[in-house]
Amino acid sequence: KAKSAGRSTFRFFTEAMDQEMQARRSMEIDLQRALVLEQFSLAYQPQYQIDGKRLVGFEALLRWSTPARGPVSPAQFIPLAEDIGMIGSLGEWVLRKACKDAAQWPEPISVSVNLSPLQFKNQKLIDVIVSALASAGLPPHRLDIEITEGALMDDTDATVAILKQIKALGIKVSMDDFGTGYSSLSYLQKFPFDKIKIDQSFIRSLETNPDSAAIVRAVTALGESLGMMTIAEGVETESQLRQITHDGCKQVQGYLTGRPVPQHEATLLVEQMN
Ligand code: C2E
Ligand code: MG
Ligand code: MG
Ligand code: MG
Repeated sequence: KAKSAGRSTFRFFTEAMDQEMQARRSMEIDLQRALVLEQFSLAYQPQYQIDGKRLVGFEALLRWSTPARGPVSPAQFIPLAEDIGMIGSLGEWVLRKACKDAAQWPEPISVSVNLSPLQFKNQKLIDVIVSALASAGLPPHRLDIEITEGALMDDTDATVAILKQIKALGIKVSMDDFGTGYSSLSYLQKFPFDKIKIDQSFIRSLETNPDSAAIVRAVTALGESLGMMTIAEGVETESQLRQITHDGCKQVQGYLTGRPVPQHEATLLVEQMN
């Protein structure tokens, strides 16, 4: 009896796995033709200087939607795109589109673009970035590259060398999701980031965990002494905004101050500025 129960549990398990693999395979197939079918778009989330409530720029966030699936979360499809070797072409599409859109906005509004760690393995990354800026006519100081710890984790020296080239071009570099990895601190020493993005997990727990406020304060002070701007991600409430302001944070990006919106709405926000 125990044996047969075990066997049916096992069969249930393998069937579930088969289904998962099929679902994954089917999404890969859809993803592979999504560029040609023009199913990708960018959403732009505003970033503000807290002091004076000044709009400073937008983060470009990739969106994928198909008639059959509707919108698919980037948390779901970006790892897939990395696995099937399409993050290079997809990342290039994002860079070109973001630079082109940002060129329509006035100085000094910037655009932040997320780069996958895998894009740093591509020898042509610098060429792609330079070409994206040139064909859009966007000045380099208005582009901001966001990387997570993952990009620095293996091959740190090679990645740092590329980041230095990017910075030498006048492009800004931000450390995304700061504080979520194993050695965020040590990376701050390896490269002079322009901006530290304090991860949403610390902001979300501000009201419930007093340690979070201490962390926001410490990161902000650290950033300040290293000459790095700090921005809080995922601020959803007035109380969180008050708290991060009190803790010294200079910039904010979150649902409270603005959700990610299509390009034409971002342009409206820019026009309302003055
Ligand atoms: P991220 O770069 O840390 O982007 C911030 C994420 O937090 C976005 O999710 C944004 O919509 C969400 N967010 C912003 N404010 C709030 C808030 O107040 N509350 C909550 N709950 N969420 C907020 P999204 O657009 O789903 O993107 C998820 C992740 O996917 C990004 O995290 C980034 O790692 C990745 N991603 C997005 N676009 C790209 C891209 O073009 N290339 C690469 N390589 N990765 C991308
Ligand atoms: Mg980001
Ligand atoms: Mg982030
Ligand atoms: Mg993230």
